[in-house]
Amino acid sequence: MAMDGNQPNDISAVVAADRAHVWHHMIQHKPFETIDPRVIVEGKGMRVWDARGKEHLDAVSGGVWTVNVGYGRVSIADAVRDQLVKMCYFAGSAGSIPGAIFAQRLIEKMPGLSRVYYANSGSEANEKVFKMVRQIAHRHHGGKKWKILYRERDYHGTTITALSAGGQQQRAAQYGPLTPGFVEVPHCLEYRRQWDGPDYGIRAADAIEDVILREGPDTIGAICLEPVTAGGGVIVPPHGYWDRVQDICRKYNILIHIDEVVCGMGRTGEWFGYQHYGIKPDFVTMAKGVASGYAAIACTVTTEAVFDMFKDDADDPLGHFRDISTFGGCTAGPAAALENMRIIEDEGLIANTTAMGARLMANLAALQDKHAVIGDVRGKGLFCGAELVADRVTKEPAAEKQVAAVVADCMAQGVIIGMMNRSVPGLNCALCLAPALIATPDDIDQITGAIDGALGRVFG
Ligand code: PMP
Repeated sequence: MAMDGNQPNDISAVVAADRAHVWHHMIQHKPFETIDPRVIVEGKGMRVWDARGKEHLDAVSGGVWTVNVGYGRVSIADAVRDQLVKMCYFAGSAGSIPGAIFAQRLIEKMPGLSRVYYANSGSEANEKVFKMVRQIAHRHHGGKKWKILYRERDYHGTTITALSAGGQQQRAAQYGPLTPGFVEVPHCLEYRRQWDGPDYGIRAADAIEDVILREGPDTIGAICLEPVTAGGGVIVPPHGYWDRVQDICRKYNILIHIDEVVCGMGRTGEWFGYQHYGIKPDFVTMAKGVASGYAAIACTVTTEAVFDMFKDDADDPLGHFRDISTFGGCTAGPAAALENMRIIEDEGLIANTTAMGARLMANLAALQDKHAVIGDVRGKGLFCGAELVADRVTKEPAAEKQVAAVVADCMAQGVIIGMMNRSVPGLNCALCLAPALIATPDDIDQITGAIDGALGRVFG
């Protein structure tokens, strides 16, 4: 492996610098006192190489389901470079060519929506919605309708307010006091039923209405939901759920905010996850796959009706959305996003996602027949999970250490897979697979082949 430019040739210097000065996201640093941090230095297509030159098949698109179009896309790098050389940045009311064109292209894929607000991360895009909902409450509902519903197990980001809207309590546990006004509704995972009887999707949706009636419909402005819950365990809502949720929201004049940070940009086999379910959202947020990690960009997309609520007081200094995001005006993001979208379209990656997702689910179902430890498999497109249980009857979750051993075994075989809820006790352990949308049948078979071997070795 060669390194050039301002990168050192000696990777041990990189490892030493990392160990001494980088505070990594999401993990305990103790292990780095004795082992080297893994440094990924190169990527091409579905594969990445670490600093030791070892090749890995990446089944999690950059760890957190981001690199939808795969690694090493020269055309995206070129688009960003050309744009930055020409015009890198100007803030505030100034528009930009890629910002305008990407917004137009995006809206073409999202009938019923018409306005794009740019930011940098999924958390931030969600925060924009929370602020819009609060401002609508102040200006149009006499201060009522300020609460926002969120669902158990869903995740909407890492800031204090996004954590307040998060359904994985342990993530927020030590960061209180949280922002008031966020109210939890139950999750809809049928495998872990909370109610008996038929029509589980309807029952789970009706549980939302119970919460609305308890809180008072005139206090609730919006509901924030993932179309398919990602980090909370790959929860594909049961039949009938979304129709009922939408009916309930319309009945009580509650705005629907769909968090597409993971599901957006083709991940589930439609441009957006909500499009599987006939939902008409008032807000859609997106980030990860928008530029596949080639640049930081997030979007909050909304309707003209919502937009109009912010422009009816043109003379009032408080009449507009009082928000700015410095780098939300950067041109690199939309330039990368435009090329990313072109690739998804021209290479037919949404159809490929549907086909490869079906293959992945079929392979996982075959593994479930073979390995008793797989209690449930679920997924949509190329976002799939396999929940591991110690006992299929009691559904007692598999020991976290064993699940981690499966992940480590796959890693040793050169396949990077993910594990859900590791840091969230009380939720269940699931393997998570979200390969890039360019995956081939051989890639899919290699991923499930590695899991097969690992399950055999760890669980016997
Ligand atoms: N929403 C969902 C559904 C997510 O999975 C994530 C991140 N994993 C976020 C929001 C937050 O995005 P970011 O990390 O870019 O702030």
